[in-house]
Amino acid sequence: MSDAHDASTLAMLSAEEELCLRHALDQAGCRFTRQRAAVFAYLKSVASHPTAEEVYRAVQTRIPHISLATVYNCLEALVSSSLAQKLTLGDGRTRYDGRTDRHLHLRDHATGQVRDLPVAVDLNALHQLIPELGPMLRSMGFEITDYRLELLGRFQPFASPLSEPPLLRQIDEVK
Ligand SMILES: [Zn+2]
Repeated sequence: MSDAHDASTLAMLSAEEELCLRHALDQAGCRFTRQRAAVFAYLKSVASHPTAEEVYRAVQTRIPHISLATVYNCLEALVSSSLAQKLTLGDGRTRYDGRTDRHLHLRDHATGQVRDLPVAVDLNALHQLIPELGPMLRSMGFEITDYRLELLGRFQPFASPLSEPPLLRQIDEVK
């Protein structure tokens, strides 16, 4: 995965990925379109958690006449088909994530850059951190079903980019 894409590097789907996309869209009652395929391919190819506007600018290099409204529509179709996650992080900006497994995020509060945390954290870790949390919330009549966690900080310019995170299956985060 990389963040920078121009017209020549905008990802394309393999035949297998296109078949998965067609199937998932079909299951969700959404049509397969070239625009949806291009948006899906872009989202799968970047680690940057782009906003709809960023997806629009990237996909426009391949489909010049696509509108921002169509990109929004494509992104919503992918979210409905469980092919992408819609994230609203602490800065209030809506971003889209091509990873649909539960995982946590790092956000640079100066630049807005968002990356995946490359280690798994599960809900049990939260209970270990605050042992009285479960009983206390139960006594308040509140049951935890999920949680969001983002780590805020600065990405150092000299730091090596995070390696491809392993598949994280045990993390609880609100989709
Ligand atoms: Zn992510």
